[in-house]
Amino acid sequence: MKLLIGLGGNVGAVPAAFSDALGAMGTAVVVEAVSPLYRSRPLGPPQPEYWNMAALVAVEMPLLWVLERCQQLELRAGRHRQGEERWGPRPLDLDLLLAPGLVHRGPRLTLPHPRFHRRAFAVVPAADLAPEWVHPYLGRNLRELAGELRSADPGAVRLATPPGSW
Ligand code: ATP
Ligand code: MG
Ligand code: MG
Repeated sequence: MKLLIGLGGNVGAVPAAFSDALGAMGTAVVVEAVSPLYRSRPLGPPQPEYWNMAALVAVEMPLLWVLERCQQLELRAGRHRQGEERWGPRPLDLDLLLAPGLVHRGPRLTLPHPRFHRRAFAVVPAADLAPEWVHPYLGRNLRELAGELRSADPGAVRLATPPGSW
């Protein structure tokens, strides 16, 4: 199954944390493509700007396994959820964003990610990798959603590296 993972963070050497996490996913999660790096305006409490990117992966394991793997990698990058403020600063956030045609609602995992479609910092990098993938609830593809989010708020996310240079 193909899946888009969104990466974010704003504490420490975040691009290195992205690269470490993607390199450590393991053989059951094959990273097929990565977007450029972006910088984005934070949600939630006042805090430094974020780094963001997206990865297109092929997974051989159940999605809950992938979620757990992502949470282990967040922990390894120094993220400790206990006592963490909602949407507060963190070294690494790995969210499962979208898988084509897949809808899932469970206590630990919702797909598409419930706030994905409203967030330019997630949709814009995801659209670089899978512009034709359609959001199952909205019936619009990622290219369209990225265009809408960008025009609604042009300063929310900006390219930090030229495509292909990372
Ligand atoms: P947001 O979900 O708004 O991006 P966040 O990423 O900071 O906020 P986390 O603390 O990383 O939130 O995750 C909170 C919980 O969300 C996790 O424990 C996980 O079980 C749940 N969750 C549900 N759906 C997803 C998903 N698609 N991707 C990642 N986590 C998810
Ligand atoms: Mg998140
Ligand atoms: Mg998360």
